[in-house]
Amino acid sequence: MFFAQPILKIAGFGFLVSLLCGCASFQKKCEIAFQNHETNGAATLIVRPSRYTLAADPLIFHSNVEIQRELPMVRESQILRFTLMDLGMPASNEPIHIYLFDTESQFLQYANQRVPGFADRRAFFAQHQSRLEVYTFLSDALSTDLRHEVVHGYLHAAVPEIPLWLDEGLAEYFEVPQSEYGQHPDHEKLLSQAEQTGLPPPSMALVEAIVGPATMTSLDYARCWWMVKTQIESHTMHDLLSSGDFSGR
Ligand SMILES: [Zn+2]
Repeated sequence: MFFAQPILKIAGFGFLVSLLCGCASFQKKCEIAFQNHETNGAATLIVRPSRYTLAADPLIFHSNVEIQRELPMVRESQILRFTLMDLGMPASNEPIHIYLFDTESQFLQYANQRVPGFADRRAFFAQHQSRLEVYTFLSDALSTDLRHEVVHGYLHAAVPEIPLWLDEGLAEYFEVPQSEYGQHPDHEKLLSQAEQTGLPPPSMALVEAIVGPATMTSLDYARCWWMVKTQIESHTMHDLLSSGDFSGR
């Protein structure tokens, strides 16, 4: 999905919010906002879904409608951990909490309570201290959004220093259904259009030059996806992910 947005600095909260491709990573000081999010004096506050809890190791779904363990989206999200481990990601059992709001409206209201200025998007990944969280809502795109965001969760649990290009590239690569892994028509179209206009093709130098979400464009995401796809197909991804050493890449 393309939800490329600039990074937001929310001075009032003193923390940095990275709005990535379909997600946001809350880092470091964001627990300040998380702890205080229900004290802003608003007339109606949206709270996180909590009526039902489904533990589907290592995922913990929180929702107001009952989520069945047998749903493909649950199983697919679980399987992605093993898929990433097959690619060299170290094992981790760190829980990932997934909050499924009933409606987009509730999700956006909640997100804006926590992150003033939160843009219109369908899902985001949040990490503060060691707690990994995914926020999204019931929609036709839920399976795609879950696949994307739980990849961030698995990676951040097992590869804390993962580079941005690899983090987003893998999330983009695996957000498509398992039967289509490696194919992403939107990215392929964008890269083709870029090539036709004379822009340089994807390269490690280009994706490593991305200094942060603030500078990322849709083309950057497509390039990240392409570099990941290339490394998977050339069987070099395993060494990269398993070593955790990204200094020479
Ligand atoms: Zn993402």
